[in-house]
Amino acid sequence: MAKLMVSVSGVRGIVGDGLTPEIALRFAQAFGAFSGKGKVVVGRDSRVTGAMLKDAITAGLLSVGCDILDIGVCPTPTTQMAVENLKAVGGIMITASHNPIMWNGMKLIGHAGLFLDATEGEQVVRISQEKMFPFSSWDRIGVKLEYSKAIAEHLAAILDLDFVNPEQIRDRKLKVVLDCVCGAGSVMVPKLLSRLGCDVVPINCEPTGLFPRNPEPLPEHLTEVCEKVIAEQADLGIVVDPDSDRLALISEKGEPLGEERTLALATHFILGRKKGPIVVNASTSRVHDDIAESNGVEVIRTQVGEIHVAKRMREVGAVIGGEGNGGVILPDIHLGRDAPAGVALTLQHLAEFSGTISELNDTLPNYVIIKTKVELENIEPSQALDKIRSEYANETLDLTDGVKLLRGKSWVHIRPSNTEPIIRVIAEAPTAAEAEQLAQEIMEHIK
Ligand code: MG
Repeated sequence: MAKLMVSVSGVRGIVGDGLTPEIALRFAQAFGAFSGKGKVVVGRDSRVTGAMLKDAITAGLLSVGCDILDIGVCPTPTTQMAVENLKAVGGIMITASHNPIMWNGMKLIGHAGLFLDATEGEQVVRISQEKMFPFSSWDRIGVKLEYSKAIAEHLAAILDLDFVNPEQIRDRKLKVVLDCVCGAGSVMVPKLLSRLGCDVVPINCEPTGLFPRNPEPLPEHLTEVCEKVIAEQADLGIVVDPDSDRLALISEKGEPLGEERTLALATHFILGRKKGPIVVNASTSRVHDDIAESNGVEVIRTQVGEIHVAKRMREVGAVIGGEGNGGVILPDIHLGRDAPAGVALTLQHLAEFSGTISELNDTLPNYVIIKTKVELENIEPSQALDKIRSEYANETLDLTDGVKLLRGKSWVHIRPSNTEPIIRVIAEAPTAAEAEQLAQEIMEHIK
C-alpha cells in the first residue's frame, strides 16, 4: 500500500512514513491560498497524531492570512456543519477516516460544508505542487480562536429534526451497546443517546485514539460489540468509525446487519414520511431500488465518493441519499455523511415500529453483498477495466464509475480505489453463492 495518497478529496498517509508535518503544512498553505482570506474551521478525530498535524496545519493557514476556528476533537460531519453555520471560507478535518491507527490525513471542506469536488481539489493540489503561497506580512497573519460549541450545535440540530421525536424514543427505553472505537464519535454519540433516553452500554467510548481493533466498521471487526449485545440483552448495537461519518448496526441477536442496511433502513424510514428522489453511489445495494420502487420515487446513482452523492442530491432536491458503507446523508441537516444523524433516524424508526430491529430489517428484501479487492502488480487499473469492458461488451454495463455489470437481480461493480492502489470488486445477488460466483468470475478475468 502506498504510504501517502494525495487525491482531490485530500491527503492520507502513514504518519512519519509518507505523511509528515511538512506535507500537512504545505497542504494547509495551499488550501488557505485556495480558500482566500477568512475563517477556516479545523476539527480532528481522536488519533494521537492529530495534535501534531494540527500544529503544522495551524501554522500553514495562519501564514497565508486565514483565521482559524479550532473546534477540537469532533466527528467529520460536525466540522462540515460548522463550516456552513459559522460562514467560514472552508474547513479542514484531520482524520484518516476508517484507516488503521498509523494513518492520518486531511479532508478538505469547501465554504458550503461539502467536500471539495475534483476541480477544486485539483486546484489545491496544483497550488501545493507549485508552492505558490501568498504569504502574509507580520501584520496580516491570521488569528486562531477556539470554538467550543460545534458539537452542541450539531446535537441540537439532530434533536430538532422534524421527524425525530425525542419523547417517543425515550418512551421506548431502548438498551443500546455503543462502540465508538475510541474515535471522535466518543465525544458526541453517548450524549446523543442519553438525550434520547437510551440505556447506554458504552464500549470503546473514550476518545483516546488508541483503537482497540481495526477501526473500519466491517462485520469481521465487530465481535466484541456483538457479544456485548447478547450478554446485555440489548435492543441494538451501534458502531461508528473513527470520524463518525459511517454507522453500522448490530441486531438484538448480536448479528451485524451489514453496513448496506444502515442507509436502506434510513431510506425506508424517510420515504415513509416524504416522497422525493434518492441518490446513492453505484456500489450501493439494490435494495434501494426496491424501496424506491415501492414508494414510487426515482433512484439516481453516482460515482463512489461522498462529494458526488452530495452534489447530485443538491441538484435534484433528494430527500435522502448516501453510500452503502453506512454513510447516511440527510439534507434536512446538511449534505454530508452523518453517523449521529443516522443514529437518531434509526432510533426513531425503531420507536415507531412495534418489533425488534431484526424484524424491522426483515421487512426489506434481502441481498448478499460481497466486497473484495485485487492488489494490482503488473497491470494498470485502467487496463484491467478496459479488459472487463470489452470481455463483457454484450451484457448490460453501467459505466457511471468504473464498470458495473448488471445481470437480473445481481450485479458486480469493478472500480479502482480512490485512496489505495487496488481494484475493488463488489458483487451483490439474492444469495451468497450467486454473489460469490459473480465476484470470483470477475477476479479471474482481472488476473
Ligand atoms: Mg469515516
